Amino acid sequence: MSFSFNDIIFSNEQRKPDDYAAITKELKRDILKSLALAGSGHPGGALGIAELMAVLHFGGVMRYDATNPTWKERDRFILSPGHYVPVLYSCLAHCGYFPTSELATLRKLGTRLQGHPAGFGFTPGIETTTGSLGQGVSIAVGMAMSDKLIDKNSHKVFCLSGDGELQEGSCWEAAMSASMHHLDNLCWIVDNNDCQIDGRVKEVMSIYPLKEKFESFGFAVIELNGNDVEQVISGYEQFNANHKNKINKPTCIIAKTIMGNEISLMHDKYQWHGNPPTIAQAEEALKELEDTNNE
Ligand SMILES: [Mg+2]
Repeated sequence: MSFSFNDIIFSNEQRKPDDYAAITKELKRDILKSLALAGSGHPGGALGIAELMAVLHFGGVMRYDATNPTWKERDRFILSPGHYVPVLYSCLAHCGYFPTSELATLRKLGTRLQGHPAGFGFTPGIETTTGSLGQGVSIAVGMAMSDKLIDKNSHKVFCLSGDGELQEGSCWEAAMSASMHHLDNLCWIVDNNDCQIDGRVKEVMSIYPLKEKFESFGFAVIELNGNDVEQVISGYEQFNANHKNKINKPTCIIAKTIMGNEISLMHDKYQWHGNPPTIAQAEEALKELEDTNNE
């Protein structure tokens, strides 16, 4: 069985909310197909952040040049839960960093598309290795400090973390540093799906109240529905305003999302954190995706 991947480059520009439907659908298709072909991997979290990723990469929020991945003034994006990477590979392919056909090689021997991001220079568009939870946010803080100290505010740093990931103490060390060093060039997005691999976050080890925690660590906090494109656009606009106005503190976007969003087999089910769909399940989900969007 093989799936084909649509060879579409999406431009990076401000769009109306309705314009994202086709993009998020494409990302979700890629996730389902590449994971089914791989026979391993993590679909739930990746599917749940399609809107957050679509607006970030194709909404004029982040500056990048896919023909020049090492451009010094590019904004950085760090995916701290590296296991979400199928959605990032899909975005990078549709930015033009590498051919979409390469998505079929996810997790295969010798591929550039490893099951977790394999480091700067290995895959075009990937900024750093992540996967060991709690470390990506610290790397992002270091990049934001470097921008302030060395590059003199030439770029912004976006970092997405999971919510279960916040059980790692190193996340809060990163938060302390971000606040102490006044990193208003840092946008920390928390994917708050309240799911982790073995259950509900609030039942495994509660991280709540989240807004109050980040505020007490010195962040400007924005709460929104991460599956609502209009709210996502507004959240990034608020961060960009915070950056432009030099508010002297980092921004945290707490994005409520649904794991496996809009795929009924996986919708809000933590059991799909780390199980790939079979080919048949992926075909069924792809059909459902088509039907949903054609209503
Ligand atoms: Mg989670």
